[in-house]
Amino acid sequence: MTACFPVAHPLPSLWLEGNPFEDYRSTPELPTHADIVVVGTGLSGSSTVLELSKTPNLSVLVLEARGASSGATGRNGGHLTPLSFRDYRLDCQLHGQAYALAVRDFEMQNYQELRTLIDTEDIQCHFQNDSGNVQLYCDVDAYQEALEDLRVWKADGGNAAGVQVLDAEKAKQMSPLAVGAIRIPASQLTPPVFCWHILQQALRNPKINLQTHTPVTGIDPVNHSETCGPWTIKTPRGTVTASKVILCTNGWSRHFNLVDIVPVRAQVTAYQNLPEIEQHEHFGFSAHHGAEYMHERAFDHTVVLGGARDKVPGQEIGVWNDAEINPRVAQGLDDYLASHFPRMCQRSSSLLLPVRKRWTGIMGYTASGRPYIGETKNESNVYICAGFK
Ligand SMILES: Cc1cc2nc3c(=O)[nH]c(=O)nc-3n(C[C@H](O)[C@H](O)[C@H](O)COP(=O)(O)OP(=O)(O)OC[C@H]3O[C@@H](n4cnc5c(N)ncnc54)[C@H](O)[C@@H]3O)c2cc1C
Repeated sequence: MTACFPVAHPLPSLWLEGNPFEDYRSTPELPTHADIVVVGTGLSGSSTVLELSKTPNLSVLVLEARGASSGATGRNGGHLTPLSFRDYRLDCQLHGQAYALAVRDFEMQNYQELRTLIDTEDIQCHFQNDSGNVQLYCDVDAYQEALEDLRVWKADGGNAAGVQVLDAEKAKQMSPLAVGAIRIPASQLTPPVFCWHILQQALRNPKINLQTHTPVTGIDPVNHSETCGPWTIKTPRGTVTASKVILCTNGWSRHFNLVDIVPVRAQVTAYQNLPEIEQHEHFGFSAHHGAEYMHERAFDHTVVLGGARDKVPGQEIGVWNDAEINPRVAQGLDDYLASHFPRMCQRSSSLLLPVRKRWTGIMGYTASGRPYIGETKNESNVYICAGFK
């Protein structure tokens, strides 16, 4: 296998069931030329294609190694949670106060725009609109640190509308291990359905051509002396030339040797909750700075839990194969559910909810914690939008 490349047959995730773009090809043959080639069809790739589709007469070829949105977007935890107060002081230290405030405002604006879009276009992505996300703290020091982050963020002018501090008694009603909790504005959804909707919109423009199961193996200048393109894009189905290339390849970007993004494998288990066991409110949970995350889908009572990377040496850093699970992480997730949410599990004879599916997905980490967005080198005409955890 080539280093850091999407594997051909990833594990199926719950979100990818019934993918209408699994084998989609706008034309049977691969076009030989396009103005722009976009690589990847996750949240980054499909949003990029939608924007490009608004420019008349621009030919855009979209190349995806597997089925559409089958990367992290099709296998994540399903949370749409703006940053809010979380890790505010750390961000101030690392990137400065102006950045720490601006990135939170940006995420909140993005959150509101997505809510409006999903609502006005009636996108059927099981949207649990503004249902909230509860940050659970099982350690007094961590809870105090979080309260301090919230206090400082507010004092610096952060918009804390909708943030609610829950006392120990309320937190314990959610998990007996909790010592405190803070609820922040958030929603949950089936993420690839959102991408498929916007891909569908983009494809109304006949100049947009989507080719799934077409991995890009390399990008070379057409004329070897020219470092600003045009570019030859190599695939096992043939080559394409284009003036510009946009890489939306997130966890697999390292393959192109242009920016340093480290693949990190995350893992999720979907359990079947029994509605009669307990009346649940439908909101998300996070703990340990987002290392564990969970929500229950209101419409079918599936509980989706991710995290537990700390249960294995190396924490799955440098792993890019999403065709297999790590059994120790799977055990860690089961243990987490049973210990933190025992009321959900206690009536089951195995003291655990029945497992519907387990899967993994690849994230892209950068040294700064910030994504790469823009041209990879000055005037190269190769752009990247990647490095999202
Ligand atoms: C298990 C897990 C849980 C997560 N939970 C959450 C969550 O709850 N909330 C949240 O906000 N974020 C979450 N994330 C992160 C979130 O999913 C990602 O930040 C987001 O999906 C990234 O979108 P993307 O389009 O940049 O990348 P991806 O969705 O990974 O898309 C990249 C695409 O590029 C394609 N590709 C890569 N290389 C090539 C190539 N050489 N040729 C052709 N195609 C190629 C891939 O096949 C893939 O489809 C989670 C991630 C994982 C893995």
